[in-house]
Amino acid sequence: MTIAIIAHDGKKVDMVGFVRDHIDFFNKRNIRLIATGTTGSYLEKAGLEVEKMHSGPLGGDAQIASRLVEGKIDMVIFFRDPLGKHPHEVDVSMLMRLCDVYNIPLATNAAAGQRFVLSLKHEFHEDDGNNG
Ligand code: PGA
Repeated sequence: MTIAIIAHDGKKVDMVGFVRDHIDFFNKRNIRLIATGTTGSYLEKAGLEVEKMHSGPLGGDAQIASRLVEGKIDMVIFFRDPLGKHPHEVDVSMLMRLCDVYNIPLATNAAAGQRFVLSLKHEFHEDDGNNG
């Protein structure tokens, strides 16, 4: 299972907190991570292996969208900052549209991401007690 993780700058701290809360889950051998450049660097610092694309504003979201079209991404967790302005908004919209075109689960905030992870843990028949 390949999960794409992307965080706008205003949400990177939240993203790191989220990932740390579920570090055992994200470290599993059957979970592969792909991320935009800067987000990926944060994930590496948190101790995770991740395939890094270009930074979002330089086309990273578009690269992830391309992988998704090729059927290589199973889920997207996008920590969007709804209060910020983003030069690559068109790329972000494209990625979200393609999630809908290809029926790929897309979380656009931490609460939805949390639900996704909990449902996957359930699917994998595990419960580490960290449900909050
Ligand atoms: P970044 O890109 O991880 O390189 O900051 C994220 C984004 O804003 O799309």
